[in-house]
Amino acid sequence: MVEVKNLVKNYGSINALDNVSFTVEKGEILGFLGPNGAGKSTTLNIITGYLFSNGGTVTIDGYDILENPMQARSKIGYLPEQPPVYSDMTVLKYLEFIYGLKKVKLPRKQHIEEVMKLVKIDDIKGRVIGNLSKGYKQRVGFAQALIGNPEVIILDEPTVGLDPRQIVEMRSVIRGLAKKHTVIFSSHILSEVANICDRIVVISEGKIVADAKTAELSAVTSDVKKLSVIVEGSSSSVLSLVGEIEGVTKVRRVSQISEGVFEYAVEYKKETDVRRAVFKALAKANLVILEMKDSGLSLEDSYMQLTKFAGANTRQKKGGI
Ligand code: ADP
Ligand code: MG
Repeated sequence: MVEVKNLVKNYGSINALDNVSFTVEKGEILGFLGPNGAGKSTTLNIITGYLFSNGGTVTIDGYDILENPMQARSKIGYLPEQPPVYSDMTVLKYLEFIYGLKKVKLPRKQHIEEVMKLVKIDDIKGRVIGNLSKGYKQRVGFAQALIGNPEVIILDEPTVGLDPRQIVEMRSVIRGLAKKHTVIFSSHILSEVANICDRIVVISEGKIVADAKTAELSAVTSDVKKLSVIVEGSSSSVLSLVGEIEGVTKVRRVSQISEGVFEYAVEYKKETDVRRAVFKALAKANLVILEMKDSGLSLEDSYMQLTKFAGANTRQKKGGI
């Protein structure tokens, strides 16, 4: 539905985007995750035709954003990071104005009512936008994106500045869009996208560093897996016996569970499975395994690992000094 290929964007000497490519299938909710300054807004502004790239292509349902901008843009509803404010209009007047601007064909009154109900602003439709709280302004921006019922909805950090209750509400509205719409949702907060999205694309310093199903993201990022083992018996024996097993890269004692019982963290190469070898080696030495489980790497671990250089000023400069 949305195909982004080899996008490059330079702001003066800064390479904001370096060969960014990903696709979004019809009906999918894609999380576009990355720390501040990673290039999320730049990418979304190019996808929606608000900004030109220095290279690469974007197609929306087969329409190239540069060759067929009208057709491509008519399929997109966009809530930018900084939505334009029409402070002196009422909510209803503003949405009617957007309806006209987008040349929507749906029955006007009914459609605008439906959108206002969906984002829960029907009770404040007579209020002037400038007087609304940040949360309500954000919902008005969201409503604006939904006018015309576009197939693709793009939301740039829609929950920034909202309080926890408003975030929960916003999430449920976004989830409600799934299936009928294709959604791209950007955020710098991992838990935010992990909660809502089917798939996550991670961007760091202008490069895509991961693209995976939400459940699989942690597996693609690391060469090692982790095992947690609780053993009764001599600690030094456990450390040396497990340390010798093929595939094990690291073993350390994590905590004492009770008298003579310790928990160990075992790291091993992800293409192997060392559980049987661990069992056999310890059983042979009369060391009793009370518990053994695959502890994996947390999604949080993976994200930190993927973006660990962000923040340090490592972005490549063109030509630079
Ligand atoms: P994000 O949305 O992920 O926080 P942005 O796309 O806004 O990141 O920014 C990516 C990089 O491009 C940052 O280093 C930012 O400072 C730079 N940048 C963004 N907009 C401009 C601009 N108009 N002029 C110069 N640099 C910019
Ligand atoms: Mg941004």
